Amino acid sequence: MIPEPLSLYIHIPFCVKKCRYCDFLSIPFDSVLADRYIEAVIEELRLFCRRYHWKKPVINTLFFGGGTPSVLSRRQWHRLTDGIRSAIMLAENYEWTIECNPDSFSDEKASVYLETGVNRITFGVQSLVPGELSIMGRIHSADRVFEILGSSALSGFNSVGVDCIYGLPGQTLNSLHYTLTALLNFQIIKHLSVYELNINEETPFGRHQKILPLPNEDLSYEMAQKVLQISKSYGFEQYEISNFAFPGHRCRHNEIYWNHNSYIGIGIGAHSYIHPLRFADNNDIITYIQTITDGNPPVKEYETIDREILAREIIFLGVRRSDGIDEVEFFNKTGFDFQDYAGSHKLTLLLDNNLLTRNGRFWKPSDQGLLRADAIARDLIRYENIT
Ligand code: SF4
Repeated sequence: MIPEPLSLYIHIPFCVKKCRYCDFLSIPFDSVLADRYIEAVIEELRLFCRRYHWKKPVINTLFFGGGTPSVLSRRQWHRLTDGIRSAIMLAENYEWTIECNPDSFSDEKASVYLETGVNRITFGVQSLVPGELSIMGRIHSADRVFEILGSSALSGFNSVGVDCIYGLPGQTLNSLHYTLTALLNFQIIKHLSVYELNINEETPFGRHQKILPLPNEDLSYEMAQKVLQISKSYGFEQYEISNFAFPGHRCRHNEIYWNHNSYIGIGIGAHSYIHPLRFADNNDIITYIQTITDGNPPVKEYETIDREILAREIIFLGVRRSDGIDEVEFFNKTGFDFQDYAGSHKLTLLLDNNLLTRNGRFWKPSDQGLLRADAIARDLIRYENIT
């Protein structure tokens, strides 16, 4: 039986140039390799459906992420989406997102995305301050962002979003304020993601961390509050620790992950979850293409999501979301009583300290609670059965 609702993620790992902080699975764009990759992606989706005996599954949310999906040429985009569309059906009220970078986006590409059925578009802006863009190794300019956001080419999308980063080297509260307000003054923006810079040791940022003028913990905390204050003042709802949306513009695809609904992940490093199995594809593009050419699924790892893992993940993700944890859903999915599992005394303490609120069956983090979500999760998760 095909799970409902079902989502599909397609990973496009190519980028024009590697950013200095990037620890995503991305490689330099090579058009010939991209052509081979596209064929492999289409074939992987077919193999996936065959394995589960699914004939054209109905997809509620479709997400092309990366990397940089917008580096693909219009010809490549058509080939890829024709192949994907031949293997699935889109639900009536589907959401289809593409992640773009300002440097590889064009009005012509926007028309092609709309023609093929995309209805949601997000841009990796990160900052509008030239010095911050340059230290990150981003190749777009702030002017290019202004040009794109002011263009009528975006008017056909149901939702336009931007991604930003705080905690950058040299960033100040004022420069963060400038980036966010300059972006949110564009009324076309209905979704905002703001992530704290996370430095991986393997990246150039990681290797030079000691000499980077990074904000200290207090300043980072003030920046998180600044993000909240500005997004609220523009009418955005913080529905997850790093995600803000106008009413009706949440990213439904991300909510599928957070709700532990089923999803198919196609492409190198992509993850799928068909209860109770979560599996990850091979990270290496050549091995990935070869495995599929040989007629085999390119899966590298399988993990069974038992009720202990599920309980921990529901809590970890739930305290990061304004919707919080639904104790009825928690019981239905894990078989654990939420209050017994988390500990009534701990929940009472969090309520008393205004870090959690309770509304019937829902346990929700307060604004302050969202800023301390990881600490709250550590407090509520049961560790004795972790091996
Ligand atoms: S554009 Fe995004 S995925 Fe590509 S290198 Fe930069 S941060 Fe990484």
